[in-house]
Amino acid sequence: MYTLITLILISICAILAIKNLRLRKQSAHLSHQFDETALILESLRDGLIECDTQMIPTRVNHAAEEILGLEASSIVNRSIDPNNIANEFDKILSSVLFPPKGADGTSYDIFLSLPQEKKLRVFTIPKTNPGSKVLQGYIKIVRDVTIETVVEQHKSDLVSIVSHQLLTPLTGVKWIFKSMIAGDNGPLNQSQSEMLKRGIVANEDMIGLVTDILDVTKVEQARFSYKMLPYEIVGFIRDMISSRAEKALGRQVRIEEETRLTSKEVTFDKERLSIALGNLLDNSIDYSPAASIITVRLDTDGNNVRIAVIDHGIGIPEKELEYLFSKFYRAENAKRVRTTGTGLGLYLAKHIIEDHGGSIRVSSKENEGSTFTILLPINPTSVALTSRSGV
Ligand code: ADP
Repeated sequence: MYTLITLILISICAILAIKNLRLRKQSAHLSHQFDETALILESLRDGLIECDTQMIPTRVNHAAEEILGLEASSIVNRSIDPNNIANEFDKILSSVLFPPKGADGTSYDIFLSLPQEKKLRVFTIPKTNPGSKVLQGYIKIVRDVTIETVVEQHKSDLVSIVSHQLLTPLTGVKWIFKSMIAGDNGPLNQSQSEMLKRGIVANEDMIGLVTDILDVTKVEQARFSYKMLPYEIVGFIRDMISSRAEKALGRQVRIEEETRLTSKEVTFDKERLSIALGNLLDNSIDYSPAASIITVRLDTDGNNVRIAVIDHGIGIPEKELEYLFSKFYRAENAKRVRTTGTGLGLYLAKHIIEDHGGSIRVSSKENEGSTFTILLPINPTSVALTSRSGV
């Protein structure tokens, strides 16, 4: 009996010893892994802030401290209410953790004036459990893009100066052609006036190109200088359609408005939204056959207004749809029917709509027509706030 108890005790001790050894091994392995992760984090040039689901930082690497000019101890475990900022430190941290107004939440730029002027690009990556896919928190990657921005700025300034210098003489030439056609300098014969009309078309294409380049420069530069004000959307859409009346008449197409909502105030930047919607309308006219009808349909899903521009034109080949919103991209069929064109209009439209917190999509069938649909938040502020917790 005594021997049996001794044996059992010895076995238990042996099992415990083995378990202990395993645990030690596991813990050594984990601490080794932890060391490796910490080493990787510390060797990164980009700042990294790991947060829990409530956006409370749990870990910070050295680069983040350097970039933000804050010590890890003032970042980790700090709970910040973006609507109630206590001091300058919280302001810096809050701008990194919570997307600014109008940002889409996955990547946005912020500007710091302290401890020195900097432009930072912040990326947000949700952290999920690999198995259950349950959200565990977020990783914020902070990149200092100050130098790139200065270089970009110089490039944009150059483009802007050159474009303005081009635009003035081009507009002058247009005015001269128009006054000649009007007979201000004496009567013209049929062929002379035909030649001048062709000159006007070429001149307008050139003005369109320079304007697009200028718009791209403006939109890419001024992501946060949007003048967001409330406007009555139905009136705005009607004005936009009227602004294209002459062009539509010239191409013998008709633009119809189909409103499925009553008067509604929507907050947006009027100048920029006019560029975005204007490009969709111009395209629908340019790529539609004579005598066809273009419909601009307006409705809402409660949080957004939906603006659809529907045409029955050349459509877009399916394999080209995915490239359509890239800079300078033009589909093969479009190049055949219209040799001029910049491929910048849709890139601009997407940029502008996304800066409003909205989205743009296209559905199209070659030779049947296209529908471009803009989804625009009625109140972009609330969109930015909701994306704060679900980045
Ligand atoms: P552009 O019209 O100056 O070529 P955009 O950026 O406005 O440039 O459009 C990019 C391309 O998308 C066009 O070249 C054309 O291939 C296609 N596209 C845009 N809108 C339409 C449309 N309504 N119908 C057919 N193709 C279109």
